[in-house]
Amino acid sequence: MKIAVAKGDGIGPEIMSAVLKIFDANKVPLEYEMVDMGKWVFDKGFSNGMTPEAQQTIERLGILFKGPMETPKGKGVKSVNVTARKTWNTYANKRVFQTLHGVDTVFSKAGIPIDITVVRENIEDTYGGIEHMLTHDVALSRRFITRPGSMQVIRYAFEMARQKKARRITCGHKANIMKITDGLFLECFYEVAKEYPDLKADDIIVDDLCMKLVTRPDTFDVVVLTNLQGDIVSDLCAGLVGGLGFAPSANIGDHICIFEAVHGTAPDIAGKNIANPTALLLSGFAMLRHLGLTENAAVIENALLYTLEQGIHTGDFGDKSKPSLNTTQFAEAIISNFGKKPELNAKELLANKPGTPTPLKLERNTMLESKEIENEKIIGVDMFIESNEQPDVIAKKCQRHGGVKFNLINISNRGTQVWPTGSVYTNLVNQYNVRFESIDNYPLNQQDIIGLYVSLSGDFKIASIELLNMWGDKKSYSSAAGQ
Ligand code: NAD
Repeated sequence: MKIAVAKGDGIGPEIMSAVLKIFDANKVPLEYEMVDMGKWVFDKGFSNGMTPEAQQTIERLGILFKGPMETPKGKGVKSVNVTARKTWNTYANKRVFQTLHGVDTVFSKAGIPIDITVVRENIEDTYGGIEHMLTHDVALSRRFITRPGSMQVIRYAFEMARQKKARRITCGHKANIMKITDGLFLECFYEVAKEYPDLKADDIIVDDLCMKLVTRPDTFDVVVLTNLQGDIVSDLCAGLVGGLGFAPSANIGDHICIFEAVHGTAPDIAGKNIANPTALLLSGFAMLRHLGLTENAAVIENALLYTLEQGIHTGDFGDKSKPSLNTTQFAEAIISNFGKKPELNAKELLANKPGTPTPLKLERNTMLESKEIENEKIIGVDMFIESNEQPDVIAKKCQRHGGVKFNLINISNRGTQVWPTGSVYTNLVNQYNVRFESIDNYPLNQQDIIGLYVSLSGDFKIASIELLNMWGDKKSYSSAAGQ
């Protein structure tokens, strides 16, 4: 079986070579095709950080094992790590955080075991990076949460939880504030939960989740979250088990999967052969198991756990009174412990299974669309206008443009209503949301909206607009605070 390997930047080549050395010593039946991605590829002028040959190889082989990569600062290029996850639709980011015997933390010292799997949505949310300055004072980021995207990642999380025989699967969210976006994610969670009656499914507001993770981490098992919240919560979980040096990550898609460590290129220690290869090695175990190489994964993991139990460590963790090993020596120590079993959490030696088939060759992009059931009609529009005038002055101007079809309903600033009611204590920025609805809920069409846009543009610069839709009797938009 062949996989694509990108060594990465900074400590990437050092930890990748340590991990591949361990795989080779265990006769892992994999062949590696090295691909060019990362900093020097950006420097050569490839704006997505990978060569076309690298892309072809990864799409042909379906598996990428990668070291951390640097995103050049201030060149306007996007992170190759994020681009890779999005281009190949690796919609689920799975990170496993387990107590490791020999890696001291406040929880291991207190005898509180941790075994948490965080599944983070990996494509959507603010990570689209679709951002605009609407005025010189106001920046806007578009946050996409989609029904099919949420269903994909949540379905994966439930399936994985069932395989893990999880005690509990929890959705972290902020649907009390972001009722439409996080509300949709939560709705999808409970829709999928119906198909898994054997699993205890519940939800928790993300700030409460963070507090409970640091006080009672042992009460959580599988946690599924949207992208940005998942990003933050998974680093928090890495801290619970000893830091980023122990945080593996699998980016799972239907066709292509990417396995990598959570940490970055560690420029401060690069080139010194002192980096800890454990996180990349743990990511490697996830890859081996994904490929059916369960026996190889178990033998090497037992050797790693045994090595950690012996107090053997690199410079970034462990008992500082004992000398640390460098990256190469640490890899050699693991190799010398093949066949040994740790006292805690020894892995069962399940025989290797036949590898997953070569990924499907796709002819065209897959359209993810769920069935529309309700009648949709446009009943109004939000116009985001630039102005530094007072709300009542803006209201008077706007009312002139409503004509026979539109009523001015309210005006808000940074999401807080400032007209027809409001408070003079609300600070303003030079961008308002002016909401018009149709008179008597009469259905509008796009030409009506454009007519209003043209008329209003005589008085204001309009930065953006959003339609106000009704689906059946359900509003598809939020109300302003105080409305
Ligand atoms: P970092 O994770 O590289 O380093 C943070 C700290 O942790 C440093 O002190 C570093 O020495 C230490 N550290 C990290 N990995 C270690 C290891 N394996 N062994 C021992 N110590 C380790 O984070 P950063 O400094 O914020 O980012 C550096 C670069 O990495 C940036 O260019 C960033 O864009 C990139 N990055 C890449 C990825 C990825 O490829 N997936 C992820 C995060 C950051």
